[in-house]
Amino acid sequence: MLEIKSLRAAIDGKTILDGLTLSIGDGEVHAIMGPNGSGKSTLSYVLAGRAGYAVTGGSVTFNGADLLAMAPHQRAAAGVFLGFQYPVEIPGVSNLLFLRTALNAQRALRGEADASGAEFMKAAKVAAADMGLDFEMMKRSVNQGFSGGEKKRNEMIQMALLQPRLAVLDETDSGLDIDALRVVADGINRLRSPDRSTLLITHYQRLLDHVKPDHVHVLMAGRIVLSGGPELALRLEAEGYARIAAEAGVTNITDAPMESAA
Ligand code: ADP
Ligand code: MG
Repeated sequence: MLEIKSLRAAIDGKTILDGLTLSIGDGEVHAIMGPNGSGKSTLSYVLAGRAGYAVTGGSVTFNGADLLAMAPHQRAAAGVFLGFQYPVEIPGVSNLLFLRTALNAQRALRGEADASGAEFMKAAKVAAADMGLDFEMMKRSVNQGFSGGEKKRNEMIQMALLQPRLAVLDETDSGLDIDALRVVADGINRLRSPDRSTLLITHYQRLLDHVKPDHVHVLMAGRIVLSGGPELALRLEAEGYARIAAEAGVTNITDAPMESAA
């Protein structure tokens, strides 16, 4: 599904990703954990093609295609979905209009017909109910006045409607209380399928109690320094990042407390 090889990326001339290699197979759920400032959000933005992130080396292949050569909207149409750490508010654009426009734009790029109004509304109602979001919120401006938890639920509603091939979820668990965490985790689990892969970027082990990853990777100083199974997340929870950093020879981490996700 996704092959990242020796990826290097810079912001304003400063190298953030520094030789990151990661391979995600069809249907797999991978978790990336790492201290604040290690490059987790940068990786998600580089995969989505956000402006301002210069790729200075390496390659990313998505289902055999050169992902880095594609424009952001082409990546989305090809099935790459990015759930933001900090979802944006779009005043004046209703959530429903936004979602329907995004869905139909992606369909058009794939040569598919628009979703009918009735078909779309039905899917939107199911997705909102699944995520425990009042349907009235779907008629309001995108994320405007939404609580942190509502914004994260809304990200999952977008994902459920867009049905991506690869979901990159950046700290989807941040700002969620335990009930909302469970709802969001159920949403992620519901979308698990053999032809969809998920990259969960998270600061915490707690999401991984509910969404069992196939593989866990530790990102530090812009590269994957250690990979393992779900037990690696438990080790990080118990030990923090400092010891793994020392073992990996990484000296410049800012090992912020686990509870203050940035
Ligand atoms: P994480 O998500 O792991 O906390 P980020 O990818 O957000 O880390 O940031 C990685 C590094 O890049 C940090 O040192 C951060 O200060 C820097 N950085 C992130 N965004 C910008 C930006 N827009 N301009 C300059 N530096 C940035
Ligand atoms: Mg981040």
